[in-house]
Amino acid sequence: MSLAPTPSGPAPPSGSAVSPGSTTRAAGAPAGSPATRAWPRVSFDDRMATVDFRVSERAHIVVDSDVCRSCTTRACVTACPARLFVPTGDGGILFNYEQCFECGTCYLVCNGEGAISWSYPEGGHGVVFRWS
Ligand code: SF4
Ligand code: SF4
Repeated sequence: MSLAPTPSGPAPPSGSAVSPGSTTRAAGAPAGSPATRAWPRVSFDDRMATVDFRVSERAHIVVDSDVCRSCTTRACVTACPARLFVPTGDGGILFNYEQCFECGTCYLVCNGEGAISWSYPEGGHGVVFRWS
């Protein structure tokens, strides 16, 4: 994947977007438009089954658990869609890069300066998205 972690845009105004599983039409959206579709609810396991990972020996994301010990938000734990950040009993963070979607969310939400070193996997490695 080739998207760099860039700042996220502003949240959509309340009522202007359709949440997963919703059939509510967005204000101003014509009937039959994508905004009226009912998106199926997909379990975490089913979602993970739609991707492959070509794991590199080099970790493309490195987490400094020592920095994490002073973190007050632990935002990575809830924000990572692949659930790759796990709090440890001593206040640190356990991280595994091998099933990373390369979405950049952890880098954006991280509360600790220098906690996350983020790069893309080397060529030929990383996540592969496929239709199922
Ligand atoms: S948000 Fe950043 S500093 Fe806080 S626990 Fe996660 S990786 Fe560590
Ligand atoms: S880039 Fe995305 S999937 Fe990978 S560790 Fe960060 S939040 Fe999780």
